[in-house]
Amino acid sequence: MTSPDKKTLPRKDLPVDARIETLAVREGLPATQWGENSEALFLTSSFNHPDAATAAARFANEEEAFVYSRFTNPTTMMFERRLAALEGTEAAIATASGMSAILLLLMGLLKSGDHVVCSQSVFGSTISLLQNQFGKFGVQATFVSQTDVQQWRDAMQPNTKLLFAETPSNPLTEVCDIRALADIAHAAGALLAVDNCFCTPALQQPVKLGADLIVHSGTKYLDGQGRVLAGAVCGPDAIINGPLMNTLRGAGMSLSPFNAWVVLKGLETLSIRMAAQSANALKLAQWLEQQPGVDKVYYPGLPSHPQHALAMAQQNGSGGAVVSFTTKSATGPVTVTGPAGLDEASLRLRQSAFHAIDQTRLCSITSNLGDTKTLITHPASTSHGRLSEAQRLAAGITQGMIRVAVGLEHIDDLTADLARGLDTLNV
Ligand SMILES: *Cc1c(COP(=O)(O)O)cnc(C)c1O
Repeated sequence: MTSPDKKTLPRKDLPVDARIETLAVREGLPATQWGENSEALFLTSSFNHPDAATAAARFANEEEAFVYSRFTNPTTMMFERRLAALEGTEAAIATASGMSAILLLLMGLLKSGDHVVCSQSVFGSTISLLQNQFGKFGVQATFVSQTDVQQWRDAMQPNTKLLFAETPSNPLTEVCDIRALADIAHAAGALLAVDNCFCTPALQQPVKLGADLIVHSGTKYLDGQGRVLAGAVCGPDAIINGPLMNTLRGAGMSLSPFNAWVVLKGLETLSIRMAAQSANALKLAQWLEQQPGVDKVYYPGLPSHPQHALAMAQQNGSGGAVVSFTTKSATGPVTVTGPAGLDEASLRLRQSAFHAIDQTRLCSITSNLGDTKTLITHPASTSHGRLSEAQRLAAGITQGMIRVAVGLEHIDDLTADLARGLDTLNV
């Protein structure tokens, strides 16, 4: 049976040149006959057919209709249309989480014997999905530097089908050159996929820089309030409603209509949240650079960031809302413990980072990001805790590193919250 397709289902009557802010609150499906103003939540797993003959026609691909929510659902489709409009792509397909979006992308596009070039700085689960799960099925992956374009070029093979990047990276906020990677991919007949989780289309539209496919964890800024898991892949109709839709129908990593509704409504405030949270993040980064207890600040909006100019050009002049920094080493007796193999210098860094985190009262200690609440985390013992200390140091993640996903609190309350720990560091 054919699922309703974006071209044939009715569209809303929106200006063709509507801007992103307008699309964020207006794009979707026309209202039902009841004229609801806020988008309806179609909490239903299946859809009725008026009679057996129509059901037969729908199953024989002769008529388009909503059939079953694993394939399509009106609320989920409103989210897909709205996100595609914001990313500037022809289509989008919603998934149950960010990781299932990446799973869908890889399952839909790759087969045994194919090769992928991927940044070594992408989300940890993405690396393990590619290396461990897809490796098992005969897909090879080469991991390269986030910022060294030559390494990407050198990693290309005749069987390279996909380049995968995430920018800025977590937690170091390294920025890769999307246009340069798109050129490398296209010269080899491969596709470039970009995980746009950190910037969202409010700050960065990778397709405008040549990317083919955009991956999202809707769990982060798209929802924006830390409520639900969601994900999506955005791209050309031929891929999204072709191999990806076919894979989703069979594999079932579909987004629940309830979660779709939450994220759909989250998109309405995306651009004002991103603007306000990024403005807060810039102020926090500038403040952190002045603190005696802070060693180094990682934030693309600061002129001290190595890819500052590239970030400003790619990200609409914004650094985003994630700031990382390292504390200076604590002096005096070492009181924290750590995994075997941490030397005293690393333990001292861990001690100051733990102290700074533990003195906060406003910030939530959690490794999620993209919430209106400011979230603080120690990457070396949480998101990157499974790596060896040598792997962490190679990746630039020291025991002194703290990541702050900046929310909407008043900046003076945030600096006061962090000052409590930073001012009392024994450095
Ligand atoms: C969180 C995250 C993911 C995974 O998303 P889930 O919704 O947790 O599955 C993928 N990429 C990036 C950059 C993320 O931050």
